[in-house]
Order: sequence, then C-alpha cells, then structure tokens
Amino acid sequence: MRYKEFAKTGRKVSEIGMGTYYDPLWITTGFFGWRRGASEKVRAIGAGLDEGVTLVDTAEIYRSEPLVAAAVSGRKRDELFLATKVWPNHLRRDALVRTFERSLKHLGTTYIDLYQVHWPNPAVPIAETMAAMEGLVNAGKLTHVGVSNFNLDQLKEAQAALPKSELSSVQVDYSLIHRNVEKDLLPYCDREKIALLAYYPLGHGKLPNDRRLGSTGGRTKAQVALRWLAGKSNVFPIPRASREDHVRENVGGSDWELSAEERADLDNSFR
Ligand code: NAP
Repeated sequence: MRYKEFAKTGRKVSEIGMGTYYDPLWITTGFFGWRRGASEKVRAIGAGLDEGVTLVDTAEIYRSEPLVAAAVSGRKRDELFLATKVWPNHLRRDALVRTFERSLKHLGTTYIDLYQVHWPNPAVPIAETMAAMEGLVNAGKLTHVGVSNFNLDQLKEAQAALPKSELSSVQVDYSLIHRNVEKDLLPYCDREKIALLAYYPLGHGKLPNDRRLGSTGGRTKAQVALRWLAGKSNVFPIPRASREDHVRENVGGSDWELSAEERADLDNSFR
C-alpha cells in the first residue's frame, strides 16, 4: 500500500481507504445493537488494516462506528486515520460537540483524525459549525476538519470560517462514471492542497462490471477504477469494505501505475 500526504499536514495516509456505509436496512435496524453480518464486516475492515489501509471512513448516521472500533481494537492508534461525519441536524455548536463526544465513545478512541460535515445545512450558519470544529481542535480531540457534499462556493465559505485551522478535506461522489468535480472542485483542491475523498469510487458497485474497463496489466476492473483515482495526487478513494475478498482485491488498486496512454484511454472511454 502506498501512502500519501493528507492535505497540508505532513501526515501520510493510505492512498486507498475503506468506506463503511452499508445499506438503509443496516442503518434503520442499528438501534438494536450488534446485528447479523456484523462479524463479517469487522473481519473485512480488519483485513484492509492488515493489508496496510490506514484511512477508514464512517459517519454517525451509518451506525458503523462500533464496527470500526471492533476492527481497530488492539492496533496502534497513531498508525490509523479515523474519519467520521456529523449529520446536518447536528451542526449547531452544542449539538455538534455532543455528537462528536458520542462518536468518540462509539469509536472507542480519545481523538478523531478527521471530522466532516456530512451535508451542508443552510439553516445553520457555517461560521457556528466551524467555530465548534475549531473548539474541538483546540481541545486536542480533533486533528483535521473536513466537509462532504459541499460545492465550491460552500467549500470556500467553510474555509473562510476557520481562521486558525485549515480545512483539510472534502468528500464527494467521484469515479470514472461521475466526474462533475473535475470542473471546479478538484482543480481548486489541488491548488489549495485540500484532500478529496472520493465516495462511490466503484460507481456504487457498477464499475466492477463495466465493459469499458479492460483488465489493464492483469488487474481487475475494480483495481483499475481505484488506480485511476488513487493515482491523482490529492485524491483518496474510499471503496466500501463489507466483504473480505473485495477489500483484499481493492487494496490491489495501489502499488502500481497506469501509463499515460492507459489513463488517456480510460478518460476517453468514460467521457
Ligand atoms: P462503492 O464503494 O463505489 O461501491 C460499493 C459496492 O461495490 C458494494 O456493492 C460492494 O459490494 C461492491 N464492491 C466493492 N469492492 C468490490 C470489488 N472488488 N469487486 C466487485 N464489487 C465490489 O460505493 P459505496 O459503498 O456506496 O460508497 C463507498 C463509501 O463512500 C461508503 O461506504 C461511505 O463510507 C462513503 N459514502 C459517503 C457518502 C457521503 O455523502 N459522504 C455517500 C455515499 C457513500 P460488497 O459490499 O458486497 O463488498
């Protein structure tokens, strides 16, 4: 697994991460604690960690924080990069702090590496949310602040509302089949060195079966789709990690390169 610098921090994280959003059923039945399939999911996350993945993405709404906690238990905390998110109904100062504390407990940790606003909420001033984030950074409980599903203007507003800390990342839908971010968000992030976490990097499961993806250099379609993203200097794909064999295959999206010609062919095939 290759590691690359996350934003401007000097901190290196695995160029391919793991996402832990499962499905609506998992979320709605999550109130009842540990459920069927939990052990398999924990094993899958653990397999990724064994293979060198350090970036794990979750969210209060996914109800997967306890699974991440179980998978990372007994591992060296400072080698991990745990990212979670706050849902838009918790963006007021007190609610954000309460939600953050709950995530700490669910993740079984004393600090979080990246806390992200899951979706913007126009009813809450971004300055209030970012001030609450900065308070957590100052308290030593949070290392990096990020956002998700923000457009470029919203991202700039969030950045401006953080006078002392840096906005480190934005998480958005980005893959060979969904490339809107290439218009303005990605070039801006590259200039500002804001990390871009690519969700749906496998097109929500479509790309491993897409006929436009060949088996470049003997790699699988999923590996080629992930390589195309991870080969970009500032982009970190976070494919979902619910099956151990898929996780191991996805790790194979690292440690090799697409040639310039292969990259151009992929760009053209998916235009
Ligand atoms: P995805 O990673 O693009 O695709 C996941 C689908 O691909 C699953 O059905 C998975 O199956 C399958 N898959 C994974 N590896 C495979 C492989 N090697 N070969 C064949 N199929 C494979 O989409 P996603 O899970 O929906 O999104 C990824 C992560 O992004 C989420 O887990 C979450 O952390 C994040 N996310 C964030 C937001 C946001 O609003 N910020 C929104 C959506 C998602 P199995 O599950 O059976 O392995």
